[in-house]
Amino acid sequence: MHNAAYKALGLDRAYLPFHVRPDELRNALKAIPALGLLGVNLTLPHKERAFKMLASVSAEGRRLGAINCVVNRHGRLFGHNTDARGLEADLRSLKLAIARKRAVVIGAGGAAAAGVVALTRMGVEEIVLANRTHARALSLARWLRPIKIRATGLESLTDLETLGDAGIVLNASSAGLNDSAFPALRYEAASKDCFFYDLIYGRDPTPFLKPAIQLKRPTADGRGMLLHQGALAFELFNGLEAPLDAMRRALSRSLRLA
Ligand code: NAP
Repeated sequence: MHNAAYKALGLDRAYLPFHVRPDELRNALKAIPALGLLGVNLTLPHKERAFKMLASVSAEGRRLGAINCVVNRHGRLFGHNTDARGLEADLRSLKLAIARKRAVVIGAGGAAAAGVVALTRMGVEEIVLANRTHARALSLARWLRPIKIRATGLESLTDLETLGDAGIVLNASSAGLNDSAFPALRYEAASKDCFFYDLIYGRDPTPFLKPAIQLKRPTADGRGMLLHQGALAFELFNGLEAPLDAMRRALSRSLRLA
């Protein structure tokens, strides 16, 4: 996506992967100004530790307790987290009518935290946070404290009342990753316009989305969130508006080839 964006704008810049072991994270961060890099994205397992290592972190990064983007401004490093804003941009582009409705968020890790923040900003009435480990859902709910949040185990995914009023069911867990089975969910209990959104993405429909597609419910996977996160990171690194269409085409191409 980033290299397609550079090509579209005629910029002689490149986006490259680096494999950094956890015990080398501090050295890798120190190398960013030394090597003159504009910035880096980072992912599991570095997001929480990098947050603790950087002196300057955006308000969103502090709220989520993790960063996935480090920007080099004249030798000083700034940490950002684009998860919630990337998801929000995608949900808004899908024009979902979820304000004042209930949202069900599955998971209690960093992605679920971003989901809660994005959905709260979009004006949902209540969030049911359903996680395999109930205690983790409770501690995330306490940490984020949005308007109205109810932490549960996965049993709420088969509860007719919880699903019946839901405007969106968002999978922010790793369940279904690499085609693994998805926990029991009563899809048919949700209304016809309830939206099913999976943060996981791939060439084929994910295990979470397959039954929803069969029931003709509206669905989307996480490629749009990835696209918007890429665009936000591009703008932070380069100080230029991201060429979204070129990035979208590059992402679709690589998912088709995956
Ligand atoms: P994480 O911190 O490791 O959290 C994983 C969550 O998934 C935990 O709540 C865990 O429950 C739950 N889980 C794992 N396996 C499960 C299973 N078999 N059944 C039920 N629950 C299960 O991961 P994360 O950073 O939040 O990421 C979660 C997912 O979001 C990943 O698949 C990631 O690829 C995706 N993601 C996508 C984007 C995007 O741009 N589209 C961005 C960020 C993340 P326990 O607490 O019980 O262990």
